[in-house]
Amino acid sequence: MRLGALEAGGTKMVCAIGDETGKIYEQISIPTKTPEETVPEMIEYFKKAGVEALGIGCFGPIDPDKASETYGYITSTPKLAWANYNIVGTFEEALGCPVGFDTDVNGSVLGEATFGQAKGKKCVVYVTIGTGVGAGVIIEGRLLHGMLHPEAGHVMIQKRSDDHYQGKCPYHKNCLEGMTAGPAIEERWGKKGIELKDCEEVWDLEAYYIAQALTGYILTLSPDMIILGGGVMHQLQLFPMIRNYVTEMLNGYIKTKELQNMDQYIVPASLKDDQGIMGCLELARRALCEDV
Ligand code: ADP
Ligand code: ZN
Repeated sequence: MRLGALEAGGTKMVCAIGDETGKIYEQISIPTKTPEETVPEMIEYFKKAGVEALGIGCFGPIDPDKASETYGYITSTPKLAWANYNIVGTFEEALGCPVGFDTDVNGSVLGEATFGQAKGKKCVVYVTIGTGVGAGVIIEGRLLHGMLHPEAGHVMIQKRSDDHYQGKCPYHKNCLEGMTAGPAIEERWGKKGIELKDCEEVWDLEAYYIAQALTGYILTLSPDMIILGGGVMHQLQLFPMIRNYVTEMLNGYIKTKELQNMDQYIVPASLKDDQGIMGCLELARRALCEDV
C-alpha cells in the first residue's frame, strides 16, 4: 500500500509517504501558517505521490467522532486560523481517498503499539512533553475516545510547598502542561530546558510533577506501559527520577510485575521520534481497510 501520513503540529506540518509496515519512503516539513497558505502545498505533495489513503494526527482539540456533524474538524484550538477548520473534509475532497484522523498523541501511541516497543500490550499511555503536554491512550488496539479525546496534559497538579511559580496554562495555571511544558520551564527558570541540563533542582521538580500525573493515570487506566516523548523528555536523566517518585507516590498500594520493573514500565519513545508519523501511516491503513 502507498500511504500518506500527516503529523499536523502548531509549528510544523510533517508530511510523509510510506507503507503499512511503517516504512517511510520520504518526508517533508512545512511551517504551519494559515490553512490557505499551508494546505495547498500539502495536497500537492500527497497528490504527486499518488497515495491510496491518508492518516492525519492533529493538534487539538479536534472532533474524532464519526457520528458528529463536525467530525474531522479542528475545533476550539487557540491557533485561531485553524479553529473550526474541516481538515479531513478538505483532504478527502482534494485527494479522493480515505482519510484517517486522530489527535497527534493518539497517533504517537498508535505508532508505538503497532511498530514499536508497545506491540501486543493491552493498555498503553503515551505522554508528550514539549511546547504543550498531551497524552494518547490505546486500549486493546483501539484509540481511546469518549465525549472527545483524552486531554490528560491538563490534569491538575499539586504544587510543592517550596514552589512559588504560578503555572503557565491560560486555562488552569498549575495543570501538568502549565507546570512542566518547555515554555513553563523557560519562564520559571529564565532559560530554555536545553540550557539547564546540569541543574539538578530543575529536573527534580519536573520529575516530581510529571510523576504526580503518571500516578493518576496508573491508578485510573492501569496501563501496562507508559511512554514519554517530546522535546523535554530528551533530558533522559528525568526517567530514573520520575520512576522513583512514582514508586514513592504509589507507596506500595498496588503490586504488579510491571511496577517492580520500572525501567521497562516508564520508558522513552522507541521509534527515534518517528512514532507520530508512523502512527499516521497506521491511521491511513485503518482508514483504507475500515479497520478502526
Ligand atoms: P513541539 O511540542 O512543538 O512539537 P518539541 O516536542 O520538540 O516540539 O518541544 C519543544 C519544547 O521542548 C520547547 O519548549 C523546547 O525548549 C523544549 N525542548 C526541546 N528539546 C529539549 C531538550 N533537549 N531539553 C529540554 N527541553 C527541550
Ligand atoms: Zn491546562
